[in-house]
Amino acid sequence: MEIFKQIAPLRAYLKIQKERKLSIGLVPTMGALHPGHLTLIGNSRAENDLTVCSIYVNPTQFNNASDLAKYPRLLEKDSAMLEEAGCDVLFAPANEAMYAAASELKMDFGDLDKILEGKFRPGHFSGVGLVVSKLFNIVQPDVAYFGQKDYQQFAVITRLKEELLFDLRLKAVPIVREKDGLAMSSRNMRLAPDQRQRAIVFYQSLLLAKSLLEQGKSWKQIEEEVKRKCEAQPEVKLEYIALADRKNLNPLNNVTDRSAAVLLIAGYVGEIRLIDNLLLEE
Ligand code: AMP
Repeated sequence: MEIFKQIAPLRAYLKIQKERKLSIGLVPTMGALHPGHLTLIGNSRAENDLTVCSIYVNPTQFNNASDLAKYPRLLEKDSAMLEEAGCDVLFAPANEAMYAAASELKMDFGDLDKILEGKFRPGHFSGVGLVVSKLFNIVQPDVAYFGQKDYQQFAVITRLKEELLFDLRLKAVPIVREKDGLAMSSRNMRLAPDQRQRAIVFYQSLLLAKSLLEQGKSWKQIEEEVKRKCEAQPEVKLEYIALADRKNLNPLNNVTDRSAAVLLIAGYVGEIRLIDNLLLEE
């Protein structure tokens, strides 16, 4: 595996690969890799000649300084995992390579970044939009792979691609879960064992909400029931459970078309913030 920390040598390397007509898949990550990330790498490898994985803990997408400071950084271990998974290129830049000292550029995605994650993490999607644009410009991949785990992020990046005319395909990969259903996340490793047990409440809440919808309960009742379920657990705080339109994430109050709806949840276990979501129909 080739490892680059600087942009110019990576660009030079990729230029040669493109002249050889090799197709390129990009998997952007923040590292602390787990099998969810490796599934994205597997998808890219299956569909492209060359897979580039980026590992960069992007400061502009963190609205909480302590979350940024405590985000796990495990570059050596990650690098070994990528090598083992058959990744071809690792791009692991420092902040100085990615942002000019006086960088102030912001992105606004209208309604899409004011709801759900955007409401609870102001500025988050501006940061995501910036870093993903930079990565698309640097790598110029044929396909970029993202997880459905970050459902709203994929909607934002779809809008970004359309607005900025990025000439690439986007692919969303289904959520990879632990045996008990917890969505894999780099943040899970920060949970103490008892917190790890309780973290499953978010996935269970999604399943509960789905089954209550099927029983015809009102969305207001379901929200209340989920809040009770979550907050019966010590250290668990629900930020939101939402029923939304799969395409634009506008809130729904009931389901007329199951294939058009998604349930989304976010909350804290202790000081660790977790998100998850569930399509009402695959
Ligand atoms: P992150 O390193 O958390 O920024 O994630 C990098 C990419 O991996 C994003 O596109 C995520 O949506 C995706 N991802 C993270 N966790 C999972 C998971 N459990 N299953 C599938 N994809 C995931």
